Amino acid sequence: MLTEEQIAARVAELGAQITKDFKDVEEDIIVVCLLKGSIIFMADLCRKIELPLKMDFMTVSSYGNEFVSTREVKIKKDLDENIMGKHVIVVEDIIDSGNTLKTVLKMLGHRGPKSVSLCTLLNKPSRREVEIDVQYIGFEIEDEFVLGYGLDYMQEYRNIPYVGIMGNLDELED
Ligand code: 5GP
Ligand code: MG
Ligand code: MG
Repeated sequence: MLTEEQIAARVAELGAQITKDFKDVEEDIIVVCLLKGSIIFMADLCRKIELPLKMDFMTVSSYGNEFVSTREVKIKKDLDENIMGKHVIVVEDIIDSGNTLKTVLKMLGHRGPKSVSLCTLLNKPSRREVEIDVQYIGFEIEDEFVLGYGLDYMQEYRNIPYVGIMGNLDELED
């Protein structure tokens, strides 16, 4: 779906945009990676942000199923940094229903950050169940299950350097 070259070009653009938007801020910038899916994107993106920043990591898990409309999101690994008064940029691999991020943004908002913005590599707007403001979007995609570049299928395929559609798995294995 997306080649390494396409991804690299877009990540560079996002990094340049973030650099421009935050170049005059005085407070610390903390870039938050939502594990595990965002790790590859985070690593590439941070190298394209030409500003001093701190990196931090958070793991959340969602419970519930398609029959339950209110989903519970739990923190499995919290941030190490105190984000009070700082600029937080949350990095996500893909936004689907938006339920996970909605809860994460609310949790982070309670900690008194100066600002919270959101950067996602992929966005599936057709699947959205809750409204969220996303400041930085890599690519808008159709409703298809994708993997690679950090995104998994049963914890595998994260190390594929491009983004592929799940339906093409046979090709990947050849
Ligand atoms: P939601 O926005 O529905 O709360 O959940 C988003 C999370 O679901 C993403 O962070 C990702 O882990 C997973 N997810 C959603 N769509 C896909 C997809 O197409 N491929 C993969 N590998 N994970 C997905
Ligand atoms: Mg994710
Ligand atoms: Mg996953």
